[in-house]
Amino acid sequence: MARAELMDYDKALELFEPVIGLEVHVELNTTTKMFSPAPNPANSAYHGAEPNTLVSPVCLGLPGSLPVVNGDAVRSSISLGLALGCSIAPSSRFARKNYFYPDLAKNYQISQYDEPIAFEGSVEVELANGRVFDVPIERAHMEEDAGKLTHVGGSTGRIQGAEYSLVDYNRAGVPLVEIVTKPIFGAEADAPELAKAYVSTIRDIALSLGISEARMERGNLRCDANVSLRPRGAEQLGIRTETKNVNSFRSIERAVRYEIQRQAAILAKGGSITQETRHWHEDTGTTSPGRPKSDADDYRYFPEPDLLPVVPSAELIDKLRAALPEAPAAHRRRLKAQWGFTDLEFQDVANSGLLVELEETVKAGATPAAARKWWTGEIARLANAAGVDAASLVAPVHVAELAQLVDSGSLTDRLARQVLEGVVAGEGSPQQIVDIRGLAVVSDDGALIAAIDEALASQPDVLAKIRDGKVQAAGAVIGAVMKAMHGKADAARVRELVLERASAPVE
Ligand code: ADP
Ligand code: MG
Repeated sequence: MARAELMDYDKALELFEPVIGLEVHVELNTTTKMFSPAPNPANSAYHGAEPNTLVSPVCLGLPGSLPVVNGDAVRSSISLGLALGCSIAPSSRFARKNYFYPDLAKNYQISQYDEPIAFEGSVEVELANGRVFDVPIERAHMEEDAGKLTHVGGSTGRIQGAEYSLVDYNRAGVPLVEIVTKPIFGAEADAPELAKAYVSTIRDIALSLGISEARMERGNLRCDANVSLRPRGAEQLGIRTETKNVNSFRSIERAVRYEIQRQAAILAKGGSITQETRHWHEDTGTTSPGRPKSDADDYRYFPEPDLLPVVPSAELIDKLRAALPEAPAAHRRRLKAQWGFTDLEFQDVANSGLLVELEETVKAGATPAAARKWWTGEIARLANAAGVDAASLVAPVHVAELAQLVDSGSLTDRLARQVLEGVVAGEGSPQQIVDIRGLAVVSDDGALIAAIDEALASQPDVLAKIRDGKVQAAGAVIGAVMKAMHGKADAARVRELVLERASAPVE
């Protein structure tokens, strides 16, 4: 649907109540895969490996190969379940979900079905306006990821119109936890923001537990957003659509908002919603139909005969519970106090989903104020222009290094912005870029004085004015010196020196 045909957002909310449900896949960063000893590409040590190099007979479904459960993945899943406020099943089991697709060599995915490892939880999520939601969790279950297809030759990267497809089994067997919420009511106009804030909270939880790299742009964290509308006052839930794999926080919010407006326009005209998956298009800000989806997709689930049930001991669960880090909402309250930010400043950071980045930047040595300035200022601007999340552009340690270079006077803000562009372009660390591009501030007074004397000598009228006490005339000289230094001087220092030299006896 073209954006012009959408219903106005406020109007849509007047007529309908939005209900959302979120499915988030978290890739665990264990060293090896879910059921095999092959290295796990979701662990940053193996990220970016050549296609089909991180595989074993198990991930390829070769005859005679048998799965073995990865204990670390189970422990991570239990920790995640506990952090989501879930009960942990004393016994849960794996199930086969049967379907054919070329990225799934075995023709079935090992997942959990009627006995997930974690169920019935709740996550506290805070919105920009201070509203706090308890998002109800239905279940969190363990499963393995499928491989990855690349469709070559078409214009869209989709299978339609492609000449051929390549398959990479590196991702086959990567440990996943799928977290499914119950239908979420009552968010009203905040539903799109709640969807974003919820996924961002899941990311914070995963990072604080250290169980996932949790980078959306790498697919470590993937979200499917279910949206339905029901007329005001209606009991029955409306028909939902499921927008798949929306891969940035920003897109989650936009996709939910779009679906509310699209469905409202259809329903208001007396039409009906098709229960289906939909694809999000970042460029046009719209969704398009994927495949129809009934409530009972028949995957012929049955208990996985090659694996025993998972029966964690009560001691293990207690131990993992005792080791849980602070919950994100409580953590935020503490950070806000520690950093001494105003409500507005803190919300600015939180809304941009940058709390973790800021915290790491401060840990790496930047002041909270400097960290905030860079992340919500220049980095956010570059991210916006590129249509990506700020966190994917630059590492917190590099931001801290940049802030320190400014603090120590080696860089002016203007030079630091150039250095940042180099960091974002992948040219190296801030210090390396300063060295390579020769961007450091000229802090050698000798060089500055030489340039100042030259400028004063060539503008005797200005010199006379300064000596007359017309200090603002110094601007012309400062400008000339900054130009001679190619902007690589600290203007405040230049000003000091200009006034000093102007009052010195002329030689
Ligand atoms: P599926 O197999 O279709 O992915 P799941 O049970 O894994 O089903 O997830 C469905 C998600 O959609 C859950 O988060 C659920 O709470 C949510 N949901 C179910 N019905 C509705 C509805 N009518 N409107 C909005 N969300 C819904
Ligand atoms: Mg699902």
